[in-house]
Amino acid sequence: MNKFPKRYFLTLIWTFHTNLIVWSISYLLFGLILSCKHFWTGLVLQFQIDKDYLLKFKNKKFTGLNLGHTVIIVSRKANKDGIDTSIEKHEHGHAEQWEGNCLFSFLIASVVFSISIFVGNLNAFLYFILFVWFFGGYVIYFCRSVQAWIRGENIYSGNADEESMRAQFK
Ligand SMILES: [Zn+2]
Repeated sequence: MNKFPKRYFLTLIWTFHTNLIVWSISYLLFGLILSCKHFWTGLVLQFQIDKDYLLKFKNKKFTGLNLGHTVIIVSRKANKDGIDTSIEKHEHGHAEQWEGNCLFSFLIASVVFSISIFVGNLNAFLYFILFVWFFGGYVIYFCRSVQAWIRGENIYSGNADEESMRAQFK
């Protein structure tokens, strides 16, 4: 959070719309309903949950989850405020990948938006533009899982984003 703050906050241009949705829903669920401890590090809102089972999926237990600029960590794996455990570094690293993914989808959405305005038929592409603009950042992660599956690897551990995070923070 101390690196290039100006450039960091510039990323809000292509992430703010998605952030508004995910921050609101996660704050409602984890902040208000489940009363989880939470704090901000730069643009990322982190929640610490005591209920481990919330991050269980198909018998696989996750200790952290990244939703873009929202990170959820099980309390026993988060030490104190700030990013100081390996799982926190892992999930906050995903936030950086997501920002890059969002920039790509923002550019794609902008190009299609401009073309559809130019040809005078915004309605035909509106839902496509909105989907790419809001959720493109997540779709790219999903595609890396599909790619892992095609290679015959595990869709989670073979995902190139996960491999990158494991290589950085073991
Ligand atoms: Zn991960």
